[in-house]
Amino acid sequence: MIYRRFGRTEQRISVFSLGSMRLVNVPPAQAQATVEAAVAAGINHIETAQAYGHAESLLGEILQTLPVPRQQLILTTKLTPQPQDQLRESLQGSLTRLRVDYLDQLAFHGINLPEHLQWVLQEGLPVLRQAQKEGWVGHIGFSTHGSLDLILEAIQTGSFDFVNLHYHFFQQRNRSALEAAAQQDMGVFIISPADKGGMLYHPPQRLQEVCQPFSPLEFAYRFLLADPRIHTLSLGITQPQELQTAWAALRDPEGGWGNVLRQVQQRLQEREQEHLGTTRCAQCYACLPCPEGIHIPEVLRLRNLALAHDMTEFGQYRYNMFGQAGHWFPGVTADCCTECGDCLPRCPEQLQIPDLLRETHQLLHRSPIRRLWE
Ligand code: SF4
Ligand code: SF4
Repeated sequence: MIYRRFGRTEQRISVFSLGSMRLVNVPPAQAQATVEAAVAAGINHIETAQAYGHAESLLGEILQTLPVPRQQLILTTKLTPQPQDQLRESLQGSLTRLRVDYLDQLAFHGINLPEHLQWVLQEGLPVLRQAQKEGWVGHIGFSTHGSLDLILEAIQTGSFDFVNLHYHFFQQRNRSALEAAAQQDMGVFIISPADKGGMLYHPPQRLQEVCQPFSPLEFAYRFLLADPRIHTLSLGITQPQELQTAWAALRDPEGGWGNVLRQVQQRLQEREQEHLGTTRCAQCYACLPCPEGIHIPEVLRLRNLALAHDMTEFGQYRYNMFGQAGHWFPGVTADCCTECGDCLPRCPEQLQIPDLLRETHQLLHRSPIRRLWE
């Protein structure tokens, strides 16, 4: 295992963290074996949330049986905005379920809208600072699915020790948040590189070929780990065997995080050029806002991936979440386009956005999908 300094928390954190969202969906013995295997392999950070069903109490039971002392583990949970007078009790509930008397890290779960940040700064943080003084909580951070502007604003408050961020090879919109977090010396935890990063545990053949000599998932891990501003990647695994790709990504960092990685990136870009030509969305976000609430860049990102890399299944998974997950995944399906033309003069690529939206809807529209823990 490789460990990195988790920003100003000064913790030495394993470059892979064990996420627990999916552990609640497998038999308890399998969950236990997965946690044991992860810890035995040197993963020292376990991450959960109040919102992940019974994940906290499941982990609480498993933690009792692990052969490593509590102080060798970094334990993080997350809580969503809630009435201020319930916050202490809510935090106490997490400690009770996890069967611990302190949390190394506590994150506000989903600073997705400006009002969430306002609530955190005005109501949430004062309570958690008090809990910190009393020794219940070590470090305070936040997770986010919000806009880049909001993420930068939250980071620049200087109030947080770490951030849980969406940033992946196939979605680099939040790149400047990495730099902002580095300037604040914050720990950076990357959310879900395997699943939200492109369903890379189940890659299409074309993508597998382009990513050689790596699997697409190993490539995605290596891309992230090559960036020293990133400290740890979440593994949402449910069985011990799934650790193998993570270990593969740690082999030969000198060769694999340098030239070979760049060659794969080059090939991926060439595929985009070949399959998308002048219809490639450059992901500049200049077309927003759309009066109908269509998240044009995200719709067209999914089109880019489906056409260039055959990532249609991933595209369908994400596209059919539009309109289903509120601020966790904002936007509506592309058939809401009225062809008003507002976005057209703002697109530097001069894309025929309504035509591309219509095509993407035909390509990706299936039954609506809800988020896993809702
Ligand atoms: S043309 Fe369609 S996508 Fe563009 S702004 Fe109008 S409704 Fe939105
Ligand atoms: S302005 Fe054009 S290139 Fe930029 S994100 Fe929107 S559609 Fe894509």
